[in-house]
Amino acid sequence: MAGRSTAEIKCVKCKNVYESDVIDHIDLSEDRDLVKNLKAGKANRVQCPKCKKVEYLDRSVVINFEPDNLIVVYDPAATKKSIRDEHEREYQAVIAFSETLEEVGEETEFKVISKLEELKTLVAEYTKAHD
Ligand SMILES: [Zn+2]
Repeated sequence: MAGRSTAEIKCVKCKNVYESDVIDHIDLSEDRDLVKNLKAGKANRVQCPKCKKVEYLDRSVVINFEPDNLIVVYDPAATKKSIRDEHEREYQAVIAFSETLEEVGEETEFKVISKLEELKTLVAEYTKAHD
């Protein structure tokens, strides 16, 4: 199941601030319905309740390419190496929490991607291999 949380969003059109359900984490083996949106860069679609303006958020999403031992952080803002390094550090900090996760971490490749084209390629390869 996709991991979700609530985010505060400021409407670009009417400046109304509202809360919306957003996706933080996608498991490709279970969330196949999200693949299409993900490839289009529209994983996080929100709509202002006041003026109905639709936006696609530029937030980072963690994508688990189960069973391929690949975890990708897609962050459109991670164009700088320092931001990518920060994601890498967070990931290492999370897996250092338990021995089980540490084992998983050793077998799993971790990537930070900022380009949608690169993400599309990975997702296309995945759906081709697992359909
Ligand atoms: Zn609005």
